[in-house]
Amino acid sequence: MKAEKVILSNLIYSGKGREVFDGGIAINADCILAVGSRPEIEEYIGGDTVVFAFEDKLVLPGIIDSHIHITMGAMMDDNDINLEGTKSAEECAAIVRDYLERNPDTDLILASGWMLSLWDSRELPRKEILDDISTDIPICLPTADGWLVWVNSKALEMFGYTKETVSEDDAFFIKKDEAGELTGVLYNKGADPVYFMMMDIEPAKAERLLLNAFRRFAEFGITSVGDLSNEHVIDREPAGFKLYRNLEAQDKLTCRIFIYPAIDKDLTFAKAGQLQKEYSDGYVRMPGLKAYQDGVIDACTGVLVDPYIDEPENPDKNGVPIHTQEELNAKVIAANKAGYPVRIHCTGDGAVRMSLNAFEASNKANGEHGLRNCVEHIELLHEDDVDRFRELGVIACKQPAHLQLSSEEFMLEAIGEERWGRSYPMKGIIDAGGEVNMSTDYPIVDIDPFNNIYAAITRCMADGTPVGPNRDDVMDIWETLYGYTYSGAYVLGVEDELGSLEPGKKADIAVLDGRIIDEAPSNLLGKKALLTIMDGKVIYEA
Ligand SMILES: [Zn+2]
Repeated sequence: MKAEKVILSNLIYSGKGREVFDGGIAINADCILAVGSRPEIEEYIGGDTVVFAFEDKLVLPGIIDSHIHITMGAMMDDNDINLEGTKSAEECAAIVRDYLERNPDTDLILASGWMLSLWDSRELPRKEILDDISTDIPICLPTADGWLVWVNSKALEMFGYTKETVSEDDAFFIKKDEAGELTGVLYNKGADPVYFMMMDIEPAKAERLLLNAFRRFAEFGITSVGDLSNEHVIDREPAGFKLYRNLEAQDKLTCRIFIYPAIDKDLTFAKAGQLQKEYSDGYVRMPGLKAYQDGVIDACTGVLVDPYIDEPENPDKNGVPIHTQEELNAKVIAANKAGYPVRIHCTGDGAVRMSLNAFEASNKANGEHGLRNCVEHIELLHEDDVDRFRELGVIACKQPAHLQLSSEEFMLEAIGEERWGRSYPMKGIIDAGGEVNMSTDYPIVDIDPFNNIYAAITRCMADGTPVGPNRDDVMDIWETLYGYTYSGAYVLGVEDELGSLEPGKKADIAVLDGRIIDEAPSNLLGKKALLTIMDGKVIYEA
């Protein structure tokens, strides 16, 4: 039997283990036909076979980024404004003003990257600074971590927020000043309309933005993503699902999308069941549900085991958990019982512990369920909980590049030296036998997997500056490659189909522009794929 396509290289990584081999992969239609040595694979080359021959280029299963926010990222990429590294509201405003002058046809500004913890003054910004730039175009500037959004008056108007419509109870989320005026700062659920915007823009524009994003994913060798987007609130019309399905129906989707909507409030899972049935095969699927247990340490809303230290007048303050332990246990037990794995956002060690407790309770209540329960982020982990990932079969979903967003000065003030010294844990969980998965949480940081790998193996900013004192808490290159391939498929529950190069599996394959496994870490920066194949189709070729 001859293959439609053959890829040859002296550096093939299967998705598991700590080695590469010299050989090739034969592909027919959407599947891998054979994986083996050169002589074995050359048998499959016939007159019509397309042969891709590489030397010293790493071939691996298509990269899986298991935790991103597609629509938000697609909208932000459209503006191409980066507020990363800014030190003040004025500096952000100057960048936005400059962009608008160069792009006068823009009808919406959505740009991210700023962090209050990195500003010279930690005072919240106000809408008037942005109103000075425009009162006609909505301007929405989420922080890099997405928890705060700074907007102008036009955006407030578009979202229907006025000082009359925002109740005193909601003023925590849609900030008011002492005079009762809206300040232009939206927090947590107050920022939801920003994340729902994609559903309201005209379909042609939504499609253009999504296709731009998917093209970039393919350039990086990414063939599957987990979409944990805020707009997929299960009780709303899941418009995001439909956008993706429409692209699939038109044969334009170049990426498999695994969606995790928020857990049903009523725990009947009626809506989840209906969606899962509707999205059970093809490129758009719904494997499970997501939940939040805290905010972010950078805003002191991450839930900690021991209190934050920067508010001496408030010694009990250690973040407010989104669910009580009882509520979280009930949700996780019910979701697992109904057959849905749960992925829980936890940045602080207190939230991580509560989630592990809930997963433990579910294991007790439900017995062997085999579901891929995950704790997302884990910016801080208590030493007593390190072994529990292995013990409970819970996956640690890590985004190493997030350490590049943190401010040492702020972290020392907020959590102190000892805890800063064990922030962004990676190696300890792996050494304890736990599963550590790699993702970016795009657009919190860019989708670029190679910067994420660089951060995981160096704990450095992209310019080489070290972050934090725990220099040895790094992953090695094999752990990162595994975290982006087989582990990704395992998180999504599709390791029988994807995540490794094996006969019978789907032909999702990336060829990277370099050896990767033994290159200097700085060489990873700016890396791209040379060839990306998804479902047997070439979706990108450099
Ligand atoms: Zn996220």
